[in-house]
Amino acid sequence: MIFITEALLIASTLLMMVDAPLAKYSSEFYEIESNLPPERVRYIGKIMDAAGKEYDRRFAGYSGKIQRKPKLKVYATKDEYVAANKRAGEGSKAHATGGVFMPIDETVYTYDSPQIDEVLRHECFHQFAHFVVGGELDTWVNEGLAEYFEAGKVDPSSGTMRLGQVDARHTQKLAEAKEEGRLMSVDQILQIGGHDWHQNMDSRHAATQYAQAWALCHFLFHGDDGKYQKLFDNYLRLVDKHLDGASAFRRTFGADTKPLQARYDAYVEHLIAAADKAKKGKQGKRKND
Ligand SMILES: [Zn+2]
Repeated sequence: MIFITEALLIASTLLMMVDAPLAKYSSEFYEIESNLPPERVRYIGKIMDAAGKEYDRRFAGYSGKIQRKPKLKVYATKDEYVAANKRAGEGSKAHATGGVFMPIDETVYTYDSPQIDEVLRHECFHQFAHFVVGGELDTWVNEGLAEYFEAGKVDPSSGTMRLGQVDARHTQKLAEAKEEGRLMSVDQILQIGGHDWHQNMDSRHAATQYAQAWALCHFLFHGDDGKYQKLFDNYLRLVDKHLDGASAFRRTFGADTKPLQARYDAYVEHLIAAADKAKKGKQGKRKND
């Protein structure tokens, strides 16, 4: 029995050394490699084409160009995904992630799950920004925009995507953090670097930092009837021209963030209240059903 177990272990280790056999499929925007059934891969291509179209539309005229279709590797199981991460030298947190964009081979890795649409919209934004944004996006805006696209809703039949949804997971985290006095100020969000972001990933602050990055982007797109949308675009275009994020933000929104902070605080209140109302409405409806 021992021999059989060992032989199985060796065989499975050998299997992990090579990529699982993946078939190639080319959608309008993406090169997808996957060991999922063709029908599932076609579905993934369709929903990601809708997202790709929207990334393109929103970032038209940026300095980077996509030369060939970006690559996705979609595994049938989480074990295959974790093994692929390890082969690419990125295994340390793979078990805790649903997907990842690896700049080293410019590929998004993920595995099939009920959340695959959301995961892909998030990771493929990082991939898109890597190709298209000339400068370096600060962590808060790279993650905040990824979350913003993640929360989008795709209509598979028309192939279009609607953006700006209020993400209940995030509003819940915002409400908790606010109650516990853990909400970061706008200045703190702007300054959080990749290292600190990564350090927080193992703590309860992980969800809060994603929620706040999302909330700040949502505010800059939709707050005060879209008043900041043009400024946000201006900020992003300065970063595209290789201005560092802090300078680009100061130049666009001014050095004093206090007025913006006050409006942002009011917007967070509004997001939390709107989500609360929607939740109560749903509960009320359920009671009446
Ligand atoms: Zn991300």
